[in-house]
Amino acid sequence: MGWTLMIHGGAGSMRRGQLAEADDAAGRAGLSAALEAGAAILRDGGSALDAVEAAVKVLEDDPAFNAGRGSVFTWDGRIECDAAIMDGRDRNAGAVAGVTATRHPVSLAREVMANSAHVLLSAAGADAFSKEHGLEQADQAWFAIPERRRQLDEMKARPEGAFDSGMKYGTVGAVAVDEAGHVAAATSTGGLTAKRWGRIGDSPLIGAGTYADDRAAAISCTGSGEHFIRLGLAHELCARLRLCGDELSIVEQDLIAELGRIGGKGGFIAVTPEGDARWAFNTPGMYRGRVSHDLEAQIAIFGDEG
Ligand code: ASP
Repeated sequence: MGWTLMIHGGAGSMRRGQLAEADDAAGRAGLSAALEAGAAILRDGGSALDAVEAAVKVLEDDPAFNAGRGSVFTWDGRIECDAAIMDGRDRNAGAVAGVTATRHPVSLAREVMANSAHVLLSAAGADAFSKEHGLEQADQAWFAIPERRRQLDEMKARPEGAFDSGMKYGTVGAVAVDEAGHVAAATSTGGLTAKRWGRIGDSPLIGAGTYADDRAAAISCTGSGEHFIRLGLAHELCARLRLCGDELSIVEQDLIAELGRIGGKGGFIAVTPEGDARWAFNTPGMYRGRVSHDLEAQIAIFGDEG
């Protein structure tokens, strides 16, 4: 069995000719670094779980993406991160929502999975758990990037309100299958610009934005989270593979169509234990990359690439 790693850095309105050259280059460099961090683990016979965490950590540190450092601002001008991780071997999972002080939210999600009796911790409680368990802390100033502040100001000034599904997303995620045929998935995000009232998206919700099951696939989603939650998209993809025996290529097209029918925008990456690895999205672009034991790293942003 060979290994495969896929990552995404968010689906959105990126169009060729409209994305600034510097943003294009920063996005591709970040995706390459994340792919390499995960691939190094898989090449050495490491686990899919370690690989997805390693890849997501690189993207969380990269201010080009909306996760960890570089996360979007809430309505109140704060950074509140959501993250999840899931192990396809036993469907063990961990997640956090609205955390404000952990450098790597995905590692906090993994800590919840490995060293708590719970699956999902939120807000102040999750921050306290993080400190108690010795996760690396960072202050709000470390996460905050001027460009994200500008995006918040722009969004708040809009007469049509503060939820714009046409905005550029930048959530990050990774899915992998390792040499042993085990799959894992991880997703991390600052959520949506100007989110308020403790809004939580699909990313940390197991079965909505993140899922992994060795009997089916690993999947990480990005896009208008409310629609992914309503569809239970990540679990539905796995359930159809497992219960109906459908091909991944068919299921992903069906789910993207269904997402569109209820007004959702976004995409996802998915990989099966057999190494069938695919991405799908209904936005103009999605930051994405893949690498396998027998395939050079591939990076793409726009819809007509790769
Ligand atoms: N799905 C994320 C959320 O709704 C946002 C994104 O993917 O960019 O929080």
